[in-house]
Amino acid sequence: MNNPKLPKPKSVDCGTPPKGVQAEKKGSFKMLDDLTDDVFDQLMAFNVLLPARDSLGEIYLLSSEGEPLFEEPYALVDFYCLNPDCDCCKVTLVIQDKKNRPIATIAYGWQSVSYYQQWGLDKTTASLLSEGFLDPMGPQSKKSDMFLEIVQEMVEINPHFKKWLQNRYHLFKKTVPQYGKTKLLELLRGSKT
Ligand SMILES: [Zn+2]
Repeated sequence: MNNPKLPKPKSVDCGTPPKGVQAEKKGSFKMLDDLTDDVFDQLMAFNVLLPARDSLGEIYLLSSEGEPLFEEPYALVDFYCLNPDCDCCKVTLVIQDKKNRPIATIAYGWQSVSYYQQWGLDKTTASLLSEGFLDPMGPQSKKSDMFLEIVQEMVEINPHFKKWLQNRYHLFKKTVPQYGKTKLLELLRGSKT
């Protein structure tokens, strides 16, 4: 990656999940407040922008013997930043239980540490992002650490998963400019036109 064309984000907070985020229905989060902020500073779930596409998938937790620990899988919902001028190359993964409650929020970026440093993050945060970390801005639970380990392992050992995230990011970024700010705001609020 030579001389990446780096965006000039208004703030490095770009891509933190919306405050007061709450599960509304599967693959969708309703914004509770903060919509007075610029819509381009917000995150949106992939399936809210592109509902016809596949969801990211589900995680079954297995015991060491390979037996499912719980009957129900956990859903993996991927959020990306709406700023069309921002190339942050990162995803916020929210893990939801079967009642669509957020259980863990994980930020992960597939670019190099130096990419994120040039983007404006300090070295520690840049390193954390390129490994995946529990996003302090999003909902967490007692199971967060466990899901962080699972996601870190998935991006490390499964190149398809990483590639899949990158493809969804690019599709998301390509789709955003097709909507006006008003429409994006409506989608964020969960209203239907
Ligand atoms: Zn961004």
